[in-house]
Amino acid sequence: MRVSIAGAGLGGLCLAQGLRGAGIDAEVYERDPAITARFQGYRLVLNQAGFDALRGCLPPRWHALLDAIVGDAHGERLVLDPQLNRIGELGPGRTGIVVDRHVLRHLLLTGLTVHTGAALTGYDVRSDGKVEARFEHGDPVVGDLLVGADGVGSRVRALLSPQTVPTDTGVRFVIGRTPLTEQFAGLSRAFGSKIAGDGVSLLLGAMRFRTPPKQAAEELAPEVALPDVGDYVRWAMILPPDDAVTPQEAALSRMEGWHPDLRALVEQSDPDNSALLSIRVVEPRARWTPGPVTLLGDAIHATSPTGGNGANTALRDADLLRRCLAEGSLVEAVGGYEREMFAYGAEAVRQSLDALPAYVPQTS
Ligand SMILES: Cc1cc2nc3c(=O)[nH]c(=O)nc-3n(C[C@H](O)[C@H](O)[C@H](O)COP(=O)(O)OP(=O)(O)OC[C@H]3O[C@@H](n4cnc5c(N)ncnc54)[C@H](O)[C@@H]3O)c2cc1C
Repeated sequence: MRVSIAGAGLGGLCLAQGLRGAGIDAEVYERDPAITARFQGYRLVLNQAGFDALRGCLPPRWHALLDAIVGDAHGERLVLDPQLNRIGELGPGRTGIVVDRHVLRHLLLTGLTVHTGAALTGYDVRSDGKVEARFEHGDPVVGDLLVGADGVGSRVRALLSPQTVPTDTGVRFVIGRTPLTEQFAGLSRAFGSKIAGDGVSLLLGAMRFRTPPKQAAEELAPEVALPDVGDYVRWAMILPPDDAVTPQEAALSRMEGWHPDLRALVEQSDPDNSALLSIRVVEPRARWTPGPVTLLGDAIHATSPTGGNGANTALRDADLLRRCLAEGSLVEAVGGYEREMFAYGAEAVRQSLDALPAYVPQTS
């Protein structure tokens, strides 16, 4: 069996690793000209199910490395005012495992065949049941299965299920990261907490690697090359749709008079790893007849980041699909995968939308 995967995000790469482990030939086609072409390095919180799915797709010899390059999400979740005084509690928080998306992608890329600069433009299902994928540049590719893991704006979805379209929530999200220096160590009780300002909330989370990723790879799996990344603070603010400035300006304009450490944190952030994003969701509704083309991850169930479950669900898809493909005939395997994925994917989107209003600022 030969599988073509469109999209080298977490879901597509995790699937490719899982298929490689199952002895199934898989190649990945990524639109970006290079893996590091744009902002990709934010911190994700994985729950146990997401982490287990990821582990299940990776060769066991990398499990120790995976355990070394994550961090732990724990601690009190407080509501603080802009001067860092405690004014409430968010309640029991998300405990879990924090990973850096950029570092994880490098681990997932190891040993795979990934074609960059390969934007999928279309596909045809041929009379022999195989699927031919076409790209903006380069020759078409024929395989037994095409998996659209091409994110919220999925081209594969537009062709397979044209009625399934993203919804723009109208909410924007500014996210940045700042090295975790001595100066910001004192903010530690704000990590995992919400700073409630006048109509806006700043969310802070620390990425503390158990072992620096580059060092961990050198010690535990020398065939893996991981980036040299230090600990950092991820900050995020949800904004109404009318600000059109840089990510830092968007946040700072709403932080007049805030504690100097909070302002410094945003001022000192790395512009290459800061971004202003729109929150768009995709709700999986209409099923199609199972066949040689399917979808995975944000391409079919994009959640709001406030749910903290998009990556978890994409990894779950990858693990489920690789297990189905390793067991059954192609159409049965894809049908079984889609049946389960539609149910939990729809639930993940619903949960993330339920969590959104608590973070949306009131416009005056
Ligand atoms: C700021 C932020 C914080 C988040 N925090 C969390 C969290 O804490 N926990 C959690 O579970 N989730 C979180 N998420 C969600 C999570 O990041 C996504 O759900 C997850 O990355 C989706 O993975 P994916 O592989 O489906 O898609 P993506 O990671 O979007 O990958 C899609 C890939 O396809 C490529 N592509 C697009 N079009 C084409 C084409 N035509 N041809 C070829 N390639 C194409 C893209 O370039 C991209 O590389 C967060 C998201 C954001 C933005």
